[in-house]
Amino acid sequence: MEQVRILVVEDEVIVARTIANQLNQLGYTVIGTASSGQVAIAKALEGKPELVLMDVILKGEMDGITAASQIREQLDVPVIFLTAYGDDNTVQRAKTTQPFGYVIKPFTPKDLRIAIEIGLLKHALERDLRENRDRLATLLNSMSDAVIATNEQGIVTFVNPAAEALTGWKQADALGKDVSKIFQLVDEVTETSLENPVAKVLRERQVIYLNDFTSLITKNGSRVPIGDSASPIMRQPGQINGVVVVFWDLSERRQAQLLEQALHKEREVNQLKSLFISTVSHEFRNPLSVIQSSVELIELQGENLTIEKRKTYLKRINSAVQSMKQLMEDVLFMGKSDAGKLECHPSFLNLQEFCQELLAEFTTINPRGAEIIFKCHSDRTEACMDEQLLRYIFTNLLNNAVKYSPASGNILFDLTCDLIDKVAIFRIQDHGIGIPEADQTRLFESFYRASNVQSIPGTGLGLVIVKKCVEAHQGQISINSQAGVGSTFTITLPLNYPNKIK
Ligand code: ATP
Ligand code: MG
Repeated sequence: MEQVRILVVEDEVIVARTIANQLNQLGYTVIGTASSGQVAIAKALEGKPELVLMDVILKGEMDGITAASQIREQLDVPVIFLTAYGDDNTVQRAKTTQPFGYVIKPFTPKDLRIAIEIGLLKHALERDLRENRDRLATLLNSMSDAVIATNEQGIVTFVNPAAEALTGWKQADALGKDVSKIFQLVDEVTETSLENPVAKVLRERQVIYLNDFTSLITKNGSRVPIGDSASPIMRQPGQINGVVVVFWDLSERRQAQLLEQALHKEREVNQLKSLFISTVSHEFRNPLSVIQSSVELIELQGENLTIEKRKTYLKRINSAVQSMKQLMEDVLFMGKSDAGKLECHPSFLNLQEFCQELLAEFTTINPRGAEIIFKCHSDRTEACMDEQLLRYIFTNLLNNAVKYSPASGNILFDLTCDLIDKVAIFRIQDHGIGIPEADQTRLFESFYRASNVQSIPGTGLGLVIVKKCVEAHQGQISINSQAGVGSTFTITLPLNYPNKIK
C-alpha cells in the first residue's frame, strides 16, 4: 500500500520534529514541515500532500485557521487541526474551513493515527459524494426527459434544461415556487384541469403515472401533450423528503397516433367497401337466379304450363323481386346515412295507433310465421318522431323476431310511455334461436351475422339501420338475449324529438 503523504504545520520546531517522527513510525510519509502559514501554503502547493496536520497558532501574522482555508481554496486536501485550545471560539472559526478532524494536544501516536485515518476516509467519502452529485447533475442536465424536483411541501427545488424548455419556466424563476404554478395539467378529452401529480404523490406516497391524453400548460399558455411519472423521494422508509417528476413531450407520438388512427380508419372503410360490394352482389345473385330459372321454366313448359304451376313461378318471381327491392332500399339507406344525410323529420303521432297500423301492415305482408302480440301499457302515447325511421326500426326488428323464431312461437311487442322521463320504451321479445353471447357486441357492425344463423338468409344490415334510426332520434337500443332461449330488443326514444319541440 502506498504511504500517505502528510505536511506538518507546527510553530514549535521540536514538536514538529516529534510529530514527524511519530508519523514516520506509524507508516506515513512526511513531505515537509512548516512553522508559518505562508511557508505552509507554499509547501502544500509545491508538495501536493494528501493530508495537512495544522497547528492553530503559527509563527507570523497568519494563524493555522487562515492558512488552512487558503490551502483548501486551492487544493482538495483534508486538514486536521492540532491544537491545545479546544475552546468554542477556535472550534467555530476552524469549522468554516470544513476541517476533517481535531487532535487536542497533548496527543498520543494512537490519537494521531485515528484522526488521520478518519480524516482520510471522510475526505474520500466526500469526494465520492461530490463526484456522484456532479455525475447526477450532468445526467439530469443532459437528459432529454424533463425533470422537476420539489421538497416535501411541493416547492420547486430543481428544474433541468429539458423541463425549462418544455414548461417555459427557467430554473431561476421556478425555484421556490409552488410546483402547481410551473406544472399545470389538463385532461385533453374532458378539458378539465387535473390534480397536480406532486400533490398526489405526497398524499399517496407512491409512484404515480399520468393518464393518456394529458397535456401540460406551458408558461405562455400553450399546450403540450406529455407522459409522465412522479415518484416520492424517501429520506427513510415512510418519510417523504420530496417528489421528482419526470415527463416527456408526446407531441410527435400523438401526431403519429392520430395519423395511424386515420390510416386504420381508411383501411377499415376500404375493407368495408369491398365487403359491401361483394355481399350486395352476392345477395342480388340469389333472387336473380330464382327469377331466371322461373322464367326459363315458364318458357320451357309453354302451353303445357298449368295454372297452378304458373302461380307458383310468379309467386317465386314476386318474392325474389321483393327481396331485391328490400336489399336496394337497405343499400340506399346505408349510403344516405354514411354520407351523413340521414335526417330526422319528426311529426306528431300517436304511438299506440302507429304501432297497431304498422303491425297490421306487417302481418299482411308476412302472413306466415309466429304470432305477434301487441300490448300498450300507457294511456297517453302522443309523441313527436319520424314515422319513416320508426317504420325502419320496427319492421327490421319484427322481421328478425319472425325470421329467427319458430313459426309456432309468440312474439311480444309492447309499448310504455314514461311521461316523467319523457321517453317511449318499445320492447320486442321473441322465443327464437337467441344470440350467442360472443356475437352480441358485434351485431351493429355492417354485415355481421351471428354464428347460429348460417342457414337463415340475411345480409346483416338490418340492425345497423335500426341503430342509425334510433340514434337519429337520440335514443338508445339494448339487447338481452340467450342462445336457444330468445331475444328481447329494447328501444328507448325521447317522446319529443328535441329539435322539433320549441
Ligand atoms: P338483414 O340485413 O336482412 O336484416 P340479418 O337479419 O342477418 O340480415 P340484422 O337484422 O342486422 O341482419 O341482424 C344481425 C344478426 O343479429 C343476425 O344475423 C342474427 O344473427 C342476429 N339477430 C338479430 N335479431 C335476432 C333475433 N331476434 N333472434 C336471433 N338473432 C337475431
Ligand atoms: Mg334482419
